[in-house]
Amino acid sequence: MNILVLNCGSSSVKYQFINPEKSRVLTSGVVERIGMSDAVLRNKRFDDHEIVISGEILDHGIAIDYILAVLLSKNHGVIKDKKEIDAIGHRVVHGGETFTESVLITGDVVKGIRDNIDLAPLHNPHNLRGITACIDHLPETPQVAVFDTAFHQQMPNHAYLYGLPYSLYKRYKIRRYGFHGTSHRYVSARAAKLMDKPLESLKLITCHLGNGCSMAAISGGVSIDTSMGFTPLEGLLMGTRSGDMDPSVILYIMAKEELSSSEANALLNKHSGLMGISGISSDMRDVLEGARDGEKQAIVAFDIFCYRIKKYIGAYVAALGGIDAIIYTGGIGENSSEVRSRSLSGLSHIGITIDDEMNMLSRKEKKITKDGSPVAVFVIPTNEELMIAYDTMEIVKSSSTEKITD
Ligand code: ADP
Repeated sequence: MNILVLNCGSSSVKYQFINPEKSRVLTSGVVERIGMSDAVLRNKRFDDHEIVISGEILDHGIAIDYILAVLLSKNHGVIKDKKEIDAIGHRVVHGGETFTESVLITGDVVKGIRDNIDLAPLHNPHNLRGITACIDHLPETPQVAVFDTAFHQQMPNHAYLYGLPYSLYKRYKIRRYGFHGTSHRYVSARAAKLMDKPLESLKLITCHLGNGCSMAAISGGVSIDTSMGFTPLEGLLMGTRSGDMDPSVILYIMAKEELSSSEANALLNKHSGLMGISGISSDMRDVLEGARDGEKQAIVAFDIFCYRIKKYIGAYVAALGGIDAIIYTGGIGENSSEVRSRSLSGLSHIGITIDDEMNMLSRKEKKITKDGSPVAVFVIPTNEELMIAYDTMEIVKSSSTEKITD
């Protein structure tokens, strides 16, 4: 099966054309600056052949047109007929409480995604635009929605409810949703494979550390708690987001600095985190460089970043009632041996001792604890697109079987 995986943002569409049975990416690319006269499509085929097209791409429908044209192109493409696209998998950011797993897209599903726009006004409308464009362009091709929030929908209410009047949860659905679910699910399943144990038997902590950062406590393959909340702002320190803090702080700052709610929102989401503390950059590479050069604010940003991870590990070991493995993923989790070793330091009393040599190895997927260590620690590159392709394939296969047996 060949699956087109789409991730539609406000002005971009990222795509991969994947054969999930072979875990093979046939082609991948991105369309950027949608809505502008100087939009760009960059496409890279499996054989590293690249093409860049620029011009006016005014909406997501036209972007999809271009992507299809490249896939079908004689010189740059990988297929001869649209029918070779067996299905389309869409990343959708927010499924609210409506979607607890990936689903085949129907009219009701489109309505469900639309109904959750309030919860993700910056994302769901663009995800929907991609879906409706594909329905227009490829009406015969089955489509599947894979939600960032769905994996966390089985959390117990003691993990997802806030200490606010319950009526606010009932009225506005204010609760912890959690994000990065596709990544947490992918790396947890991959860790079980590497451990050669059934996922159902394992207690895992997954750390997705990219520009946005979140952790999840996963018991028997089910996310029982996660650090991001109602929005991606809660939890760990991130590139530009503050993560956890006393909510009164923001009320106090708003009063002192006479900030509007949108200014306060920008302060918390765009000017805080590594950026706000280091004053250097939101990029961990720059912060690490600053720290190596002895810059005080870079050192403290690094310290806070790692301390928060360690604190969540402690909390999640307690929530899980034990721990078999910890997994690091995302740009920082996959690449920074310093972040891994610092955030895991001083945890030998709970069975966590990393192997420094393995931690430094440049191999992408690796175990960084010695065989026989009570808790295994893995570095596993995330692959949300492959997970979306797997889900899409499974759902399309089972829905066509249902049709046959109907
Ligand atoms: P996104 O969340 O946007 O997908 P990524 O998962 O690519 O982002 O992660 C981006 C982060 O990864 C940045 O903070 C970047 O500095 C960090 N990163 C990438 N490579 C390294 C590296 N070699 N060492 C430390 N941090 C790295």
